[in-house]
This record gives sequence, C-alpha cells and structure tokens, in this order.
Amino acid sequence: MIVVMKVNAPQAEIDRISQEFKEWGLTPEKIEGKHKTIIGLVGDTASLDPLQIQEISHWIEQVLRVEKPYKRASLDFRHGEPSEVVVTTPDGPVTFGRKHPLVAIAGPCSVENEAMIVETAKRVRAAGARFLRGGAYKPRTSPYSFQGHGESALNLLAAAREASGLGIITEVMDTADVEKIAEVADILQVGARNMQNFALLKKVGAQDKPVFLKRGMSATIDEWLMAAEYILAAGNSNVILCERGIRSFDRKYTRNTLDLSVLPVLQNLTHLPIAIDPSHGTGWSEYVPAMAKAAIAAGADALMIEVHPNPAKALSDGPQSLTPEEYEDLVAELSVIAKAIGRWSDAPAPAMV
Ligand code: PEP
Ligand code: MN
Repeated sequence: MIVVMKVNAPQAEIDRISQEFKEWGLTPEKIEGKHKTIIGLVGDTASLDPLQIQEISHWIEQVLRVEKPYKRASLDFRHGEPSEVVVTTPDGPVTFGRKHPLVAIAGPCSVENEAMIVETAKRVRAAGARFLRGGAYKPRTSPYSFQGHGESALNLLAAAREASGLGIITEVMDTADVEKIAEVADILQVGARNMQNFALLKKVGAQDKPVFLKRGMSATIDEWLMAAEYILAAGNSNVILCERGIRSFDRKYTRNTLDLSVLPVLQNLTHLPIAIDPSHGTGWSEYVPAMAKAAIAAGADALMIEVHPNPAKALSDGPQSLTPEEYEDLVAELSVIAKAIGRWSDAPAPAMV
C-alpha cells in the first residue's frame, strides 16, 4: 500500500503517521521527492481500508492499494500455475483446468420430471457432455413463476446420475439446503443472484463439493474474485468461475451481454478454471452456437449450455435452450475448434452404466 502525502506536508506529521503505522505492525518506507513524500507500507495490508487510512491525517493526499484485494484467488498465489478442479463422477474423474480438455456441461434450466431429465442426461452424454445441469431450486424474478420442484427434484437428479453416469451440477440458493444438495450434486452452483450472498459463500466454502460460481449480473471482476475468495478462505479450494452475461444498456436483442473478455483478463488474474454460459449470456438459442465457439477459441475451460427435449414447453428458459439434436450438432462443431487448440479429449465415453 502506498500513502501519498500532500505537497509540503510537515516532517513532524510524516514522522507521526510513520510511527502510527509501526504500531500497527507495518514497516513504513519513506521516499522523499522534490515536493512530495510517499510512504510505502510493507506488511500485511489485506485488511486495511485505504479510505480509513486517509482519515489519519489531512496531510494525506491519497492511499493506493498496490496488492490485489484477493489473495488465494490470485494467479500469484499459485506462482502463475493454473489450478485443476478434479470432480468425481460415476463415469470417472473429470478435470477442469487450463491444461485439460474442454468440459461440456449441459441440461435443462429446471428439472421438470423424471422422464425429461433422464432423457436429456442420456442425450447430452451421447453428444459428449460430462455433467448434467438442472435446477431443483430456481431463483426466479417473479414469485409466481415456477420455482423448481425442490427436494423431489434432487431425487430425479440422482436418478439421472445413476441412469447416465454424468456428474450433476445444481444450484444452491439457501444455506439451509447445502447439505442435502451436496448429497446428490457433484458440483454446487452458486447463481448470479447469490454471488454476493456471503453467508452462502462461507457455507459452500466449508464443505467438500466443488463450487461453480456464476458472475453476478452487475459484478465487477474484482467483486467476483472476492466472492471466490470467500469460498477459498473458508477452506474449499475447488472453485470454477462462470461468466453468464452482465447487464448492459441494450437488452432489446439479447438477455445479457456475454463478457467474453473475462477469459484473457481472468487468465492474467486468477488460477481458477473458467466456464462460459452462452445460454444465459445471450438468452436466445440461435445465438448460443456462435458464442460457444468464440468462448472455446478464447480459452474457456468449460461450457455450460441449456438443453431441453422440448424447449417450447420448458417451465423456465425455453427460448435459450437447445434441443438435444441442436446440442449434438453444436458439440460436433465445437470439437473442431477445441481440437485445433489441443483442448479436446477423444477418449470414448465409458460404457453406459
Ligand atoms: C441457471 O443456471 O439456470 C441460472 C439461474 O443461472 P444464473 O444464476 O446465471 O442466472
Ligand atoms: Mn436457466
């Protein structure tokens, strides 16, 4: 952290503040310029608030944070080495990470009934997916919209896991549900609306299942990484970030603005694997393929895509859902790009369980 003093700040005041910093356990390093003095603060400054420091003296012009506010989520924390999140599924372990093949996650927005979830699971697995997604507990803007079948849908996800061999990823919205969802899910999803639900972040951080952390719809990259930091600081090192589109001024043609620039940016900032969700990112199934291809080319480690056997009848997010046939065609196209950049596994799917 760097404290910049105002022009002609009295020496006595500089000494007084330096002494105060020492009392906080920090080592102040003074650099005297022609007109201004700056004090570099060496030590653990993670918990210090620059605005609070500014209050110490009216001779302080500004306080600048040099270190990133997040520690465990930063690329430096692993000395530049990307992390791997290995998830156990009935089909075997699947690794998310920059040096591993692209991981395909697919399935409906909501778990509607046993037949549809089992059918979708089998179809997306045949196309190449390794995880089935599907909400049991749904965050809906309107209290009158379908809220998900809750606990009974968890049983349906367990049945689909059993029938297909796919890993399960499903959303947790409430701290009270974490344990029962973790009994069925291989990965817990924290949705965009809960990205800053700090109680939930701490709770999923204190259990063992990997966490799929979606970006809040108005969250900055730093806020998103700080949310990941909550999970990491609570003891869970298996976090996957997922960009799902942010709010911008033009929502006439797309539901959200899919921010694919996060891929190169996050690759510079964090070691955590990065997924892209072009379904919520665009809101329209016809735009999903183009954004999915762009995401792979830009270095996504995983793709989450909504697939429904009959999108016209879906209880949520039908307009953005692909049919199983469309998903199959898309994966065939995606594999060409993924192969070209060495991110495709040609390993045949294990025999159906
Ligand atoms: C979802 O995955 O169905 C969902 C609700 O996503 P998000 O939190 O990104 O809106
Ligand atoms: Mn959805």
